[in-house]
Amino acid sequence: MLSIFCSPSRYTQGRNATASLGQEIVNLGLEGPALIVAGKSAIALLSGVWQSSLHAAGLMYSILRFGGECSPLEIERGKAAARQSDARIIIGAGGGKVLDTARAVASDLNLPVVNCPTVASSDAPCSALSVVYTDEGAFQEYRIYRRNPDLVLVDTEVIARSPARLLVAGMGDALATWFEAKVCADGNVRNMRGGASTRSALALAELCYRTLLGDGVAALHALQTQVVTSALDRLVEANTLLSGLGFESSGLAAAHAIHNGLTAAAETHSFFHGEKVAFGVLVQLMMESTPRALVEEVLEFSTSVGLPITFADIGLASPGDEVLEQIARRGTAKGETIHNEPFKVSSAMVVEALRAANDAGRDWKRKHRIEMSTPTASS
Ligand SMILES: [Zn+2]
Repeated sequence: MLSIFCSPSRYTQGRNATASLGQEIVNLGLEGPALIVAGKSAIALLSGVWQSSLHAAGLMYSILRFGGECSPLEIERGKAAARQSDARIIIGAGGGKVLDTARAVASDLNLPVVNCPTVASSDAPCSALSVVYTDEGAFQEYRIYRRNPDLVLVDTEVIARSPARLLVAGMGDALATWFEAKVCADGNVRNMRGGASTRSALALAELCYRTLLGDGVAALHALQTQVVTSALDRLVEANTLLSGLGFESSGLAAAHAIHNGLTAAAETHSFFHGEKVAFGVLVQLMMESTPRALVEEVLEFSTSVGLPITFADIGLASPGDEVLEQIARRGTAKGETIHNEPFKVSSAMVVEALRAANDAGRDWKRKHRIEMSTPTASS
């Protein structure tokens, strides 16, 4: 098997990075007109900067306000707008669904794409895949693209104004990267591009984990006061770039499969992807019989930033066997990344690990006198 590493062509991050958007596009040899697919708050916050930056770079553009769901209908609407304005480049600006839509439009029209995430809530912006939902909002499919984005531009001044819970969710998604990457590299499992992992991807995944432990709490404080500090800067890079390269070029394992399993329980629907992934990390550690010291390191980090560590933290009051079996069945479905683990995974084993993770989380809270969640507390 060949080793394959993939990444966006360029990653640009910093305070007021949006002001350099036009220049960065020109530097890559890309041309307008551009179609900007953008969320409501991105338009309110950034339309003035787009005007000055893109005009200064000689780029014509138009803006399409995002309709709210990355669905086939919305993708068609984006394609129609792109054709109408003769767009030669698609720019997505906003949260995950906006970027997913921009990527889908660009891929269908074979155009270059620029991603400008306004939150650091997941590791999706650097990747070459979209999650597409039905117009009613139910999961439909993953779309895998030939190419990663041409440019990912992250304005930390914009991220500093985003909701704290979204940054924390991004830390949950990033928390899984190193643990899942290690499983895939050790097992010589195919990554998201069908190749073996590289030492480079693994090193980035490890740096991602170390950055969370070192900067997570300080970054959260910075965001709460809307100040761009170096800790926030490093943390945003970990959530977006390190986690993105780590997962795509190494692969996923149990934690993300447990996330997918949890989505089978309606009570977890109001929780973010990264929040469910963070609980999935604990479940993975239980399945792997991870040494206590490492489990405690993860528990300590998760509680320090407010990531879930118990069933109640993700909306499950006291789930019965039936609910846990349903989660385990979905999490161990054929083709799920849980089968990248180095042992045969049964659904009974997952039920046991779910319970063990919840017990470990509850014990940790009791020992450290952390208040137990009521299931609706954070939804
Ligand atoms: Zn994820």
